[in-house]
Amino acid sequence: MKPIYLDYSATTPVDERVVSAMLPYFTETYGNPSSIHSFGQKADAALEGFRADVAHVLGCTPREIIFTSGGSESDNLALRGAALAAREKRGANRIFITPVEHHAIEKTAHDLADHYGFEIAYLPVDQTGTVMVDQLEQILDGRTAVVSAIYANNEVGTINPIAEIGKICRLKQIIFHTDAVQAAGVCDLNVDRLHVDLLSIGAHKFYGPKGVGALYVRKGTPLLPVQTGGAHENAQRAGTQNIPLIAGLTEALSICVEENPIYIPQHLRHRDLLISGVPGSIPGAVLTGHPVNRLPGHASFVIPGVDGNQLVIILDRMGYACSSGSACKTGSPEPSGVLLSLEIAPDLAMGSLRVTVGRQTTDEDIIGFLSVLPAAVEKARRQG
Ligand SMILES: *Cc1c(COP(=O)(O)O)cnc(C)c1O
Repeated sequence: MKPIYLDYSATTPVDERVVSAMLPYFTETYGNPSSIHSFGQKADAALEGFRADVAHVLGCTPREIIFTSGGSESDNLALRGAALAAREKRGANRIFITPVEHHAIEKTAHDLADHYGFEIAYLPVDQTGTVMVDQLEQILDGRTAVVSAIYANNEVGTINPIAEIGKICRLKQIIFHTDAVQAAGVCDLNVDRLHVDLLSIGAHKFYGPKGVGALYVRKGTPLLPVQTGGAHENAQRAGTQNIPLIAGLTEALSICVEENPIYIPQHLRHRDLLISGVPGSIPGAVLTGHPVNRLPGHASFVIPGVDGNQLVIILDRMGYACSSGSACKTGSPEPSGVLLSLEIAPDLAMGSLRVTVGRQTTDEDIIGFLSVLPAAVEKARRQG
């Protein structure tokens, strides 16, 4: 039997049309966009065309888009760049993040604290992982260098009220970043509606290639570059642009915008079958994250009495690929910090299971998964 992929939040297959869109930029339009001859001009025209297309989706100007090597780099550039610039400009040294950030933000904030003298503070979240907006007015002040809040959580799927957080930051004149890596492709990315100054995306989460992303930087946002060298990307990210990958990111994003009306209802149907089916067949299993305000393809649970990684291995042998927490943490025996921050007990947090659906998922995949899950859980419980 062909294995069934139910881990679209970890990464997605590259759409065939995306592959086709990338190919000419390896062998035909291969010039360096910084070169002044015709080869360079042609590559530069293509690059600026892609930038304009991405800007169109985000509702910004092309100059506000910086291409990067992926979600992690975009997050690093946003947080480091804004924090260092804010300190230089106005002495602010406090970084606000949420307790439910991806490691790309969480570890970066800790690095800024451990090695650069910044102080970390947290926006409060409730038990679904949603930022409690009504408390923000009080806690954000002039010492705040930058606020970063994840748009949609990779582990529990919860979608945050980014526009509301953004409005408060704007009122207080504090730079606001959102990690939209999970949200991109399925949620609204309009930077004005969201009231964001910085927004990160990464192509491989929306059927684009790995190793390419973008950072939106609102005009006038103070940002120190992290990677220095040539004046590429508005002098904010040195390095010759990877045009084939940028072509892929752009095509993948355009396909999402065009085809979401078809795919999102399909994702929702599959997700909701899982959300009702898993607790329905596994005693004690509970949904993690928000029951409604969550990614359309994301279902996540904690299952008492199992080790999540062990369950994932058993399910894999039965032909279903899912994950326990975020892919970056697989193999580590520690319970996820995100789940602990939602007040889930450590032993229960060890039994987390994330099932994420995508374009290739069929009704049969979900039905099949739900039919093998009870035996898999039983086996994991016996082994535990
Ligand atoms: C995947 C992911 C990242 C990292 O993106 P890469 O492109 O893999 O570096 C950052 N944040 C979130 C929320 C993610 O899901």
